[in-house]
Amino acid sequence: MTRKKHPKAAPAPRTRTPAAAAGFLAAQEITTTECRGCGSQVSGVNGRYACGVCGWTNPWHEGHQDLPTAEADPDWPGRKRGS
Ligand SMILES: [Zn+2]
Repeated sequence: MTRKKHPKAAPAPRTRTPAAAAGFLAAQEITTTECRGCGSQVSGVNGRYACGVCGWTNPWHEGHQDLPTAEADPDWPGRKRGS
């Protein structure tokens, strides 16, 4: 029995290249703070935290960088295929 590819599988977007991944990672900064809920030390990315002990999260606007837009999401429904 041969295995067929899923007919709806789209080719990987160009953003999923090693160079694109390295560029993305270079823009990320691991930061650490004290949980405001329970005092545990929590680490996050770019100033955004979620405590694994008590569930506290800081508000999104406290992050050090703007969040990406919906259009930046590779799965954004408005994205044209093949572009
Ligand atoms: Zn906590």
